[in-house]
Amino acid sequence: MSGSDGDSDDGGDASNPKTGFDDWLDAVEAGEGYYLECPDGHGSLPPRWVCPRCGAADLFERHLPDVGTVETFTVVHVPTPRFADDVPYVTAVVTFGSIRLTGVLRGMEPADDAIDLGTEVTVRVERRETDDERVITFRPV
Ligand SMILES: [Zn+2]
Repeated sequence: MSGSDGDSDDGGDASNPKTGFDDWLDAVEAGEGYYLECPDGHGSLPPRWVCPRCGAADLFERHLPDVGTVETFTVVHVPTPRFADDVPYVTAVVTFGSIRLTGVLRGMEPADDAIDLGTEVTVRVERRETDDERVITFRPV
């Protein structure tokens, strides 16, 4: 997608909404998680140039709410190779304000009957057991 970067930088401060995903992980790891929001209130995660829902180019950083709620989850017994040493584990989709994050739910039994939808969790960044790569995780409040 070259050629889409023609306009001038009108951000003007250090909080650049075009920050990459690794930087976003750094922020979450430091307890300073954020998301991007357009004027219509659509939330998204960096890196974003425009709102993925309405195309608005004005994206503002918003503080990521401290607590989210589990929308859905899956107990994984047969992993991809990158998660081979982590099984069984739980992947969950968690709503924080106007955004949804997908990550690994830890601190709970990886069993279907041990997790209730609506469970309140916090987000953090931890390491996969398999390869020590960073991964978004959720822990019950
Ligand atoms: Zn929007």
